[in-house]
Amino acid sequence: GAGVISIKSGREIDTMARAGRIVFDTLELMRTLVRPGLSTEDLDREAEAFIRSHPGATPSFKGLYDFPKTLCTSIDEEIVHGIPSPKRVLHEGSIVSVDVGVCVDGLHADSATTIPVGRVAPDVQRLLDVTERSLYAGIAAARSGNHVGDIGNAVQRVAEGAGFGVVRELVGHGIGTRFHEEPQIPNFGVPKRGPQLKPGMTLAIEPMITIGSPATRTLTDKWTVVTQDGSLSAHFEHTVVVTEGEARILTK
Ligand code: MG
Ligand code: MG
Repeated sequence: GAGVISIKSGREIDTMARAGRIVFDTLELMRTLVRPGLSTEDLDREAEAFIRSHPGATPSFKGLYDFPKTLCTSIDEEIVHGIPSPKRVLHEGSIVSVDVGVCVDGLHADSATTIPVGRVAPDVQRLLDVTERSLYAGIAAARSGNHVGDIGNAVQRVAEGAGFGVVRELVGHGIGTRFHEEPQIPNFGVPKRGPQLKPGMTLAIEPMITIGSPATRTLTDKWTVVTQDGSLSAHFEHTVVVTEGEARILTK
């Protein structure tokens, strides 16, 4: 859509940074918990309790578009939006993408990371490293005066340069008083195209990268998005605010 991109006040950005700190600490907690034998339901329960232990903080995902849980937990060929379940048990050598949002005083923050379960194969670790590197390339391109296309182009160059696929159907987004705001932020693009970035814009940048083809399909649970070819996928995300200089990461 061609809607207006909101500019946040300093006070709103401070609140988003408070939410972002809880998001970061939640993902750090998940990193310490992930191990073979644990279910994604276990992770979800711990995450929800941790978030709610902060006065005024609530999980953003629970109830958003009727999503039932605090986390999205997406294992191996699952790209995003996996629903935590006691039936989904983590196995050595797998990867699990954990995505979480937190709301504080009506403002949201959103971040995701992909965590190895025990020891993973070198090509799998490389997928994680490249996906995270593509996120930081996207963040570095999120400068005042640049355009949304500069972010996507930076992500795409890193990921495709490493021989990986860039998911097209799912994109990053503006974030603030609503979880999903303008603009959409594809992980591919052409420099100088798309809306121009200005200080005070808050963006969730989130590359979803595949070892094989980036073509997707959605499972019959109507949520879980997987790679069509069954290849592994990684997802890293930060919420940032555009400034006069380098973007400031609010989920770190
Ligand atoms: Mg997210
Ligand atoms: Mg997001």
